[in-house]
Amino acid sequence: MTQYFTPQEVVEEALEEGTFLETICSYCQNRIRLDARAFEPVQ
Ligand SMILES: [Zn+2]
Repeated sequence: MTQYFTPQEVVEEALEEGTFLETICSYCQNRIRLDARAFEPVQ
């Protein structure tokens, strides 16, 4: 499973606000947006 570099406080903030969180994909180094609940990339 792909891992993402995401500080815990960024995840918690996104969960509180109901927003997506931005992080860097550890595989391709691209900026991606994650669904904060599912922790899966959003296209
Ligand atoms: Zn990637």
